Amino acid sequence: MRNVAVLGSTGSIGRNTLEVIGASDGRLRVWGIAAHSNFDLLCEQATQFEPNRVVATHPDSGSFDWGGLPKSTSVAHGCDGLTELAREPDVDIVVAAIVGSAGLESAWNALDCGKTVALANKETLVMGGSLVTGLAARKGGKILPVDSEHSAIFQALSCGRREDVKRIILTASGGPFRDYSQDQMAEVTVEQALCHPTWQMGPKITVDSATMMNKALEIIEARWLFDLDPGQIDVVIHPQSIVHSMVEFDDGSVMAQLSPPDMRLPIQYALTFPERWKSPAKQLDLSERLSFHFEPPDYQRFPALQLGQEVACAGGTAGSVLNAANETAVAEFLAGRLPFAEIVPVCRSVLDQHTFDANPTLEQLYKLDAWARKEVTRWIRI
Ligand code: NAD
Ligand code: MG
Repeated sequence: MRNVAVLGSTGSIGRNTLEVIGASDGRLRVWGIAAHSNFDLLCEQATQFEPNRVVATHPDSGSFDWGGLPKSTSVAHGCDGLTELAREPDVDIVVAAIVGSAGLESAWNALDCGKTVALANKETLVMGGSLVTGLAARKGGKILPVDSEHSAIFQALSCGRREDVKRIILTASGGPFRDYSQDQMAEVTVEQALCHPTWQMGPKITVDSATMMNKALEIIEARWLFDLDPGQIDVVIHPQSIVHSMVEFDDGSVMAQLSPPDMRLPIQYALTFPERWKSPAKQLDLSERLSFHFEPPDYQRFPALQLGQEVACAGGTAGSVLNAANETAVAEFLAGRLPFAEIVPVCRSVLDQHTFDANPTLEQLYKLDAWARKEVTRWIRI
C-alpha cells in the first residue's frame, strides 16, 4: 500500500486523484489532503477518505469549525501545515496539484526529503528549472509527470535509448480560439475563454490553454523534466486531444501515447509507476469512427509559443518572471480588468524588462516573482 498526500485536493486534479485512489482497492491510501479555502469540500473529502491529516492554508481556516472531521483526522493550518505534510515521513507520494507558484514550496519540500512527487503543478519546473531538478537528483527525490503530455513523453521515451531521441512533439488542442482571427480574439469574453473544447480544468489553466500559454509553460516543463535541448521540443495542434504527445527517434520512428482526454489515467500512472493497474479513466473505443487531425501551430496568432521557446532556452530567472506575469495577467483578465488579447503582450513586456540572471537562488526567484506581479499591475494602471 502506498500512502499519498494530495496537495490541492479540492481542485480539478485533486478531485480526480481522489477518484483514482478510491478505485484502487486499498492499494493507495489518502494519508493527507490540503487545499486553500474550500473548507466544506475538505471536510467531505476527509469524511470519505479518513486521512490522518487535513491542511487548510487560508487565514480563515483557524476560525472554521472542524468538528465534523473523523476522530482519527487532525487539522493543520497555513503554509507551515502544508510544509509539514509535504515532509511527513509516512507519506510515500506527494501529489503536487496546487495551482500556480503557490505550489512550488511544498513540491520543493517533498523533493528535499527524497520523496516521489506526482507533479501536476508545472509552475514548479517553470519557475525553479534546474534548481528543482538538481534538488531531486541530490536528495534522491523522483518527479513523475501528471501533465498528460509529459506523461505521454515519459512513457514513449521508454521505447528507446535517450541518446537516440531526435525530438519530442507536444500536442496541443489549440483551445477554444484555435480558428479565431486576431480581431475576433480582441473581443473574447471570460465566459468564452473558460469554455475548453476537450478538457475540464481549473480556471487558470483553462485560460492558459486559450492563450496557448499552457503549451509555452509545457515546453519549459519538458525542457527541465527530460533535460532536453529546447531545439528538440516541437508543438503540433491536435484538436481531438487523444494523442497526448510523441517522441521521434533518430531513425524516424515516432512513438505516441493515446487515450481519451481524461486526467485520471496520467494521474494513476504517476501513482502506480512502474506498474499499470485497471483504471477508472475512459478507454479508447476503436470500434467507433475516429479521425485524428494534426496541423502546425500559428505563431502569429499565438505568440505565447515563441515566449515559451525563448524562456526554455534562457533558463535562469526567465521562467519565474514569465510565470508570475502570466498568473497575474490571467487573474486580472478573470477579474475583468485586462483584455484577453493583452495577456501575452504584458508577459512579453515584463519579461523583456527584467534583469536576467543565469544562476539564481530560490530566494531570488521569489523576489522576481513578486516584482513581476507588481509590474503587471502597474502596466494595467498606465
Ligand atoms: P484548480 O484551480 O482546479 O485547483 C487548485 C487547487 O489548489 C485547489 O485545491 C486550491 O485550494 C489549491 N490552492 C490554490 N491556491 C493555494 C494556496 N495558496 N495554497 C494551497 N493551496 C492552494 O486547478 P487544477 O486545474 O486542478 O490545476 C492544478 C495544477 O495542475 C496546475 O498547476 C495546473 O497547471 C496543473 N494541471 C492541471 C490539469 C487539469 O486537467 N486540471 C492538467 C495538467 C496540469
Ligand atoms: Mg497538459
